[in-house]
Amino acid sequence: MTPQFIPGIYNYCDRWCERCTYTGRCRNFEGPLTEKTDVNNEEFWNSIASNFAKTKELLYKAAAERGIDLDTVISEEEKKAHAKKEADLDKKIGQHPVVQLCKQYEGIVLTFFESEFRKELVDKNRELVNQLQMGIQTEDKVVHTMANCGDCEEIIQWYVFFIDVKLQRALHSLQDETDNDDGYPKDSDGSAKVALVAIERSIAAWLLLYQLLPSCEDSALKALALLSRIKNLALETFPHAMQFKRPGFDE
Ligand code: SF4
Repeated sequence: MTPQFIPGIYNYCDRWCERCTYTGRCRNFEGPLTEKTDVNNEEFWNSIASNFAKTKELLYKAAAERGIDLDTVISEEEKKAHAKKEADLDKKIGQHPVVQLCKQYEGIVLTFFESEFRKELVDKNRELVNQLQMGIQTEDKVVHTMANCGDCEEIIQWYVFFIDVKLQRALHSLQDETDNDDGYPKDSDGSAKVALVAIERSIAAWLLLYQLLPSCEDSALKALALLSRIKNLALETFPHAMQFKRPGFDE
């Protein structure tokens, strides 16, 4: 691996590459295609094939040492049992209180941006332009205020489903990890932490939006109350999440 890259940094980021300060150190955000990475380049595929063959050999050797036969075909019954187990788990996670709160939050956000935000923004713009014409507002302040409203919108919208997805992943991982507490960092904590970071940023965005557009009070307060409940419940469910060190971001 090229030393500049931070291994696994993309596993616990917010996937917002446009705003990420680690693009130069992220394997998922590699710059221009090179001979090795250009998917149209024959050398790339040759390199993949050669790595695959070596990895397969090592995998078979390791499995044989542990008495595992990798060529055993999974029976239809086993496939069905696995699918049922996954479906039951998905259902259970979907009913978890933190996921239910996320769904409520998503509803508030979608309704707000579909039916309220644009009107409030137009009213604010009109108000600021009037003040500018009366000489009680500066052009800079008008531009800055409108840009901040746009930033808040972007932040809230970026994270609205992200929080839910990451908390569901954390709950999934928690199920797999229960009997396997071997002292290693847990994916459940890492996923919960990135959700908590997204919650904090969403709270900050709603607070600023509330300050800029006070007439949005009702929606802002409902959203903030829900985010606060999601945060508390996430911290209760994943008490070690904030100690998780995300590669790159927390080092
Ligand atoms: S670490 Fe940054 S650049 Fe890499 S995938 Fe995540 S947001 Fe994008």
